[in-house]
Amino acid sequence: MIRIAVDGPGGAGKSTIARRVAKELGIEYIDTGAMYRAIGLKLIKTDTDMNDEKALVGMLEETSIDFSNGRTILDGVDVSGQIRTEEVSAKASACSALAPVRAKLVDLQRKMAASKSVIMDGRDIGTNVIKDAEVKIFLTAAPEERARRRYDELTARGLDADYDKVLADINARDYNDTHRKLNPLTRAEDAVEIDSTDMSIDEVTAEILSIAEKH
Ligand code: C5P
Repeated sequence: MIRIAVDGPGGAGKSTIARRVAKELGIEYIDTGAMYRAIGLKLIKTDTDMNDEKALVGMLEETSIDFSNGRTILDGVDVSGQIRTEEVSAKASACSALAPVRAKLVDLQRKMAASKSVIMDGRDIGTNVIKDAEVKIFLTAAPEERARRRYDELTARGLDADYDKVLADINARDYNDTHRKLNPLTRAEDAVEIDSTDMSIDEVTAEILSIAEKH
């Protein structure tokens, strides 16, 4: 059994690479960012005030999140496309600082990773969700490069994008993710750091596979 934890800031390539590694090793991939995004989407759709704890807890109790064939399922509906907007990104980042949200999702993530081989990516996997993971990776890249990748991805999908705004959003999310009180983004002491700024997807994938092979 192997559990691989991949943490790092948004846009470092975690999900693309984790998906590749999962396929190569024939293990399950769990995108924890998609789970925070699903909660962010639900907050927007139900117009719930996330600072009203009673309303938030009530909403969480009535929420189910699951994965099916790589798709994100919120309350039985495939929301994989809807969770990728900038509005949902910002809401996910904001709501991920709240204790009831983290408690629900971390519990769910631990259940998903129990007694099976997985690669899970996020912000607090190696430091909190699977502290005893066999392999821990901290994947980074310069903010300008992460913004460029995100910008290219948006324009490739035919969406309007402004590079400076994308960079500002990335910097704001980095700040939120590293400064929140609960499980902030930080490198686990025993994680291998990979800076993907000047590396291709294939190179990063190969490096993680070679680290995984040693276990
Ligand atoms: O990785 P992704 O950009 O999809 O994550 C969306 C947001 O969810 C992040 O900005 C972060 O605030 C939050 N998140 C988290 N803990 C995780 C994964 C994501 O707080 N394990």
